[in-house]
Amino acid sequence: MDEKKTAIVTGASRGIGRATAVELAKTGYFVIINFKSNEAAAAETLKLVQSAGGDGEISQFDVADNVQTKDAVKAIIERHKNIQVLINNAGINADGLFMLLSEEEWDSVINTSLKGFYNITKPVLREMVRHKCGSIVSVSSLSALMPNRGQANYAAAKAGMIAASRSLASEVARFGIRVNVVAPGLIETDMIKDAPVAEIKKMIPMARLGKPEDVANVIRFLCSSDASYITGQVIGINGGIC
Ligand code: NAD
Repeated sequence: MDEKKTAIVTGASRGIGRATAVELAKTGYFVIINFKSNEAAAAETLKLVQSAGGDGEISQFDVADNVQTKDAVKAIIERHKNIQVLINNAGINADGLFMLLSEEEWDSVINTSLKGFYNITKPVLREMVRHKCGSIVSVSSLSALMPNRGQANYAAAKAGMIAASRSLASEVARFGIRVNVVAPGLIETDMIKDAPVAEIKKMIPMARLGKPEDVANVIRFLCSSDASYITGQVIGINGGIC
């Protein structure tokens, strides 16, 4: 039985999830590095976690799949009794004008971010309630607050995560569980590799894209005791867009 405090980070094979796994490991969490398909990239995250002086393990499941996620969480809890942190980071985009959005493009984006939130938070929460302690941080987006054209599916999924988190925060505060959201602007990851960066920078007061670590640092803070009176909040990380 492993009693070391444990954090689960979904979609941690790269980008913001990878940076978050490393940050949490630095503060002493044993990190469960979730990935859907790219095992080699997840193993690379584990190497970075270990190079940072921490430890963890990789865990394959698709957060959009309820049964797969429930079974995976059950196995994680059997191995690591002390799940104190859950980071709902896995997400995808499939942009397109609403009139042209296919049902598959709508469902896949909603099912990954919003249904994924339900699929993993529910079984993890049960364990946190038992221990009367926990911190859940979900990675939403500036798009939830200032939706762009061509992102109805993504904006809806990310706004749904905010509403669900705020509702949940008020339900579980009395159990010592905090539920918060980060809303990044444009962050340099594979997700935005095709975005018109030069144009976008003109709209950012700080005139630069964010780095995955800019988000990971805020997530680490939200999971720490320094944030012990913060719950139900949405923290923007966007270089000054307001
Ligand atoms: P990314 O594409 O590099 O990473 C997304 C991660 O989620 C990948 O590891 C991917 O494999 C994983 N993933 C996707 N579907 C999954 C599933 N069904 N099950 C498990 N894992 C799955 O992009 P990123 O920028 O690091 O994105 C991380 C989160 O941040 C996403 O939720 C994204 O919507 C959000 N976000 C990103 C930006 C940005 O500008 N990059 C801005 C705001 C919010």
